[in-house]
Amino acid sequence: MKTLTVNIVTPDGPVYDSEVDMIIAKTASGEIGILPGHIPTVAPLVVGAVKLKKDGKSEYVAVSGGFVEVRPEKVSILTQSAEVASDIDVARAKESMKRAEERLQGKADATDFSRAELSLKRAMNRINVYEGNI
Ligand code: ATP
Repeated sequence: MKTLTVNIVTPDGPVYDSEVDMIIAKTASGEIGILPGHIPTVAPLVVGAVKLKKDGKSEYVAVSGGFVEVRPEKVSILTQSAEVASDIDVARAKESMKRAEERLQGKADATDFSRAELSLKRAMNRINVYEGNI
């Protein structure tokens, strides 16, 4: 069976580099399922879990947006931050979620509000990936 090479890269370096059977990622216009031979495309990603299927098993990587570039045999994801479940510090994510929730309840201005909303999304995404709650 054909496979796809996947690279997930952040400014701090590569986070994931492997062969998989299928990738499911969350783009700004909905979920995209990528199999080998997919037509080339580029799409912006939202904060979410990237699902990587290999030999009937699934692995998840938490990403904080970015872009996915699809080529028939290779998929590259460029994102500001990405963590596999085992690298997630769940206590840190819970603290971050708490801070963001407090900011959202306070009298933050519009800029702070959208920053807090994004921070909350990142924290919840990390908690979900850590807990396998996808
Ligand atoms: P925090 O409020 O905890 O700093 P954040 O969402 O603001 O979270 P980011 O700016 O998205 O953090 O990430 C900064 C760096 O820290 C990235 O390298 C990211 O992979 C890492 N990181 C952030 N939160 C966690 C976490 N809970 N577990 C592991 N790595 C994390």
